[in-house]
Amino acid sequence: MKRRSLKWRLTRWFTLFLTLISLVILFTAAAAYRVSDLRSTSHDLMEVVHNHARGMGGPKGQKSPPIDRNDTQSALPQHGLDDSQSAPPQQDRDYFQDEIQVMVYHADGTHAYGLFLLEAFDEVPFCEADRPQEYSIDGKTYLYYDEALKNASEDGMWVRGVTYVRSSGLDLLRSHWYVLIVLPLLIALAFAGGYWLTGRFLRPIQDISRTAEEIRRSGDLTKRIPVSDAGDELSELGKTFNAMFDRVEENFAAEQRFTSNASHELRTPVAVIMAQCEYALESAQSREDLEEALLSVQKQGYRMSHLIETLLVFTRIEQSTEKYPLTETELAELTRSVCEDFQLIADRGITVTCQCPETLTARVNRELFLLLLNNLMTNAIRYGKENGTAAVTLTREGSEVVLTVTDDGVGISEEELPKIWERFYRSDRSRSTRGLGLGLPLVKQIAAYHGGSVRVESREHQGSTFIVRLPG
Ligand code: ADP
Repeated sequence: MKRRSLKWRLTRWFTLFLTLISLVILFTAAAAYRVSDLRSTSHDLMEVVHNHARGMGGPKGQKSPPIDRNDTQSALPQHGLDDSQSAPPQQDRDYFQDEIQVMVYHADGTHAYGLFLLEAFDEVPFCEADRPQEYSIDGKTYLYYDEALKNASEDGMWVRGVTYVRSSGLDLLRSHWYVLIVLPLLIALAFAGGYWLTGRFLRPIQDISRTAEEIRRSGDLTKRIPVSDAGDELSELGKTFNAMFDRVEENFAAEQRFTSNASHELRTPVAVIMAQCEYALESAQSREDLEEALLSVQKQGYRMSHLIETLLVFTRIEQSTEKYPLTETELAELTRSVCEDFQLIADRGITVTCQCPETLTARVNRELFLLLLNNLMTNAIRYGKENGTAAVTLTREGSEVVLTVTDDGVGISEEELPKIWERFYRSDRSRSTRGLGLGLPLVKQIAAYHGGSVRVESREHQGSTFIVRLPG
């Protein structure tokens, strides 16, 4: 089935709706017009009949001689009291006022005087109602009103006024024919305007889908949607999509950096291992040479194993595998024991201090918490100053567990601060020390895995404090 565009569908519904509203308004106006016209026609009819009945309708009180229907036929059409007719000749005008024909009958229904254009009304019985009545002849509706003459000499006579009701739908259209041209014109104009406006309003959506399609086809993540400053919902949507493209581009670049860094980190130890093996097999002269080559191979093996293990942890956390379930864990004791271990291996005279409550339990994964604390402690010792201090505190703040690791070492410069959370980032200063540049990214990932966060406060040459918050 052929798909219609949103622009077309919106315009169609809008025009249909507009047409319906116009028709409802038109019919309501016609109905209101008919009611008001009937009311004013009735009022005029009653007034003319009443004036005649009081002897004021005639020419200055005189009665005109009876006008025979046959005499007037040439001058006035048979059923005519409607707009299409010409006015009656001057001598009949006293009995034809405001399109109202006046007839005066004797009590027995014979003509007394007046204008008798409609034979059918001779058969209509006199009506004493105090308001005009409707009567139809050949599909035309007339209003008539009767009033009895009470004057002594004319007692028993009736004055009847008849007028044509002009306000049927057809008559209304006849007198307002231009509506039939103007209304369709207006609707056509609304359709064209609506089509154009809808197209304008929907253009940002077309831009979004075109840009997304271009990105899909070309793979060029730098493309962005042109966004106007209108500040409306669609420009907001465009901005949101652009922000999403920024994020996708950023993640894609980070992913590429990560793959290239990981392969680079693996290539170096593999190259060393191969070179050492070659040396051992071809050039080693003594047992000492062989041992030296083996030691070097072992060192690179550990490095590769550590790298692979760390990458595996990242993958497992990202995939949320069941490898790291959260359980109620006693953290105070665990933290104290890690501090004691680090005090044993801390070099350059660094003192490790630990401030923890007697007990503190939280829902964490023990293995990941240990990894997090180990990474922070390794850095505090690695980048701490000679004879300095690495201080650990563990506290509960409300519903959170707060772990801080502080050192008084080299600190981190302001421009480096945002970079230290990137995988494989190592500052130039740290190149001389061991490390992969994966410690802090892993800390961040572990904190996030627990629904917590990590941040750092640091000043160059003064030291750093890493603050981890985990939900208790
Ligand atoms: P690595 O320590 O293996 O280089 P990390 O991811 O743990 O990798 O740290 C990334 C970088 O952050 C380090 O190279 C170092 O420049 C900086 N850094 C981390 N911890 C500290 C610290 N306690 N003091 C000063 N710099 C730090």
